[in-house]
Amino acid sequence: MSDSYVIIGDGIAGASAAETLRQEAPDADITVITDEGESLYNRILIKEYAKGKLPEAPISIHDESWYDDHDVDLRLDTVVVDVDVESDEIRTHEGETIGYDKLLLGIGGTPQQLPVENADAKGIHHFWTFQDARKIKESVEDADRGAIVGAGLLGIDFAAICGAQDVEAKYLMRGDSWWRYALSNEGAEIMHEAMRERGVEPVFDSGVDRFEVDDDGHVEAAVDPNGERYECDFAGVAIGLDLNTELVEGTPIEVDDGIVVDEYMRTNVDNVFAAGDITRFYDVLLGEQAQNGAWGSAKEQGTIAARNMIDYESERFEWVSSYSITHFDFPFLSFGHPTLGDDSVEATTAEGEWRRVALKDGKVVGGVLIGDLSPQSAFKKLMREGRDVRGQTDLLMEPGFSVDDLAAPTEQ
Ligand SMILES: Cc1cc2nc3c(=O)[nH]c(=O)nc-3n(C[C@H](O)[C@H](O)[C@H](O)COP(=O)(O)OP(=O)(O)OC[C@H]3O[C@@H](n4cnc5c(N)ncnc54)[C@H](O)[C@@H]3O)c2cc1C
Repeated sequence: MSDSYVIIGDGIAGASAAETLRQEAPDADITVITDEGESLYNRILIKEYAKGKLPEAPISIHDESWYDDHDVDLRLDTVVVDVDVESDEIRTHEGETIGYDKLLLGIGGTPQQLPVENADAKGIHHFWTFQDARKIKESVEDADRGAIVGAGLLGIDFAAICGAQDVEAKYLMRGDSWWRYALSNEGAEIMHEAMRERGVEPVFDSGVDRFEVDDDGHVEAAVDPNGERYECDFAGVAIGLDLNTELVEGTPIEVDDGIVVDEYMRTNVDNVFAAGDITRFYDVLLGEQAQNGAWGSAKEQGTIAARNMIDYESERFEWVSSYSITHFDFPFLSFGHPTLGDDSVEATTAEGEWRRVALKDGKVVGGVLIGDLSPQSAFKKLMREGRDVRGQTDLLMEPGFSVDDLAAPTEQ
C-alpha cells in the first residue's frame, strides 16, 4: 500500500511540500486541506494588488486544475478542528475524519487584533489573505485619510498602499522610529523620508488607544495614548501574528510560541512534521531554535519537510532567509535574523545607502541593507560559513566589501 500524506495549509509551505511529495513519492496519496476558498497564491504580491498595481490573475500560483493534474486531493473551505496523534487522524469542521501515515502542519498565523475599543469597526483592516487584500483595495480606494499601526514589515505595506492610493495617512509608531528592533534611527530615517514623499507621515511615541466610529460603525478617528486624535476613514493594523498553534493544543506535539521542530522539520511526534511561519525550528547556522516569517524560508521548509517525511534525516534545513521591500525608489533587504545578536555594526556608505550587520559571538547572524544590496551575498556566505569576524567588523562596512577582504579563517 502507498503512504498517505495529509497536509494542513495550502500556503507556500504546505504547497511546496505537496509539490515535492508528488515528485519524489509518485505513488503517495496526498491530501491538502485549507480553510481558505482559493488554492495557493502569491501572498507577497497581494500588497501590489491592494496598491492597484497588479490585477488578480498573476497572483495565483496553483489553480485548481494543478491539483487534479498532480493527483492531489485538495479540500478548499475546510477547517481542520482536531488532530489526533494517537489514532493518526484529523477531523474537519464538517465532522469528516481523514487518516494519515504522515502529517504536515503548514498552518501559519493569524494577524493580531489591537486590544482597544472599536478595533473591529468598519474601515479597519488586517492583512494576511487575498480576501483581506480585496477588502483593503475596495476600502482604501474610497478613503481620504488613513491611520496605520504596527512599525514593522507588514505595517509598511499599509503605508505603501495608502501612498499608492493617494490616501493621506498618519503612521502611528510606538517608539521613535520604524522597525526599531532591526534599524537605528539613522537607517530608519531613510524609510521615514520615503514615507513622507508618499504622503504618509510617521508619528513617533504614539500608537492607538482607541478608535472612534460614526453612526454607521465606520472608523472616523484613531486616538493615540497622548490623546491626539487623527481623523481617518481607513485604518491598517499590523501589530504581529498569532501563530495558529491552537489546533495542536492538548496533543503531545510540543509548542513553544510556534510548533517546535528539529532541523528536519519533524516535531516530537515521529510522523508529524511542520513547516513555514508556524515553526520554531532548529537553525543549524545559529545553533539554536529560531523563527522566521518569510516566503523563501517557508517554501524551503516545505520542501525539506517533504523529503524528510519520505526519508527521515535525508536533508537538513539550512537557510539564510531574506525579505525585501520594493515600495520605494531604492532597494531594501533584511537577511537572516536582523533583530538577534549581542553586537552590531552599521554605517552610511553613501547618500541614501545604509547597512547594519547583527553579530552574535563574533559571527554574522543577520542584517539590513538599504540602497545598496551588493554585499548581500558576501554577508550570507559569512553566515553560512559561520565565520568569526571579530576584530574585522569595520571591513563589513566598506563599500564593495567582499569575503576575500577578510583575513583567512584560522583553524578552530
Ligand atoms: C501582505 C503580506 C506581505 C508579505 N510580504 C512578504 C515579502 O515581501 N517577503 C517575504 O519573504 N515574506 C512576505 N510575507 C510573509 C510570507 O508571505 C509568509 O512568511 C509566508 O507566506 C508563510 O507561508 P506559510 O505557508 O508558512 O503560511 P501561510 O501562508 O499563512 O499559510 C497557512 C495556511 O494554513 C491555513 N490554515 C491555518 N489553520 C488551518 C486549519 N485549522 N485548517 C485549515 N487550514 C488552516 C491558513 O488559512 C493559510 O492558508 C508577507 C505576508 C503578507 C501577509
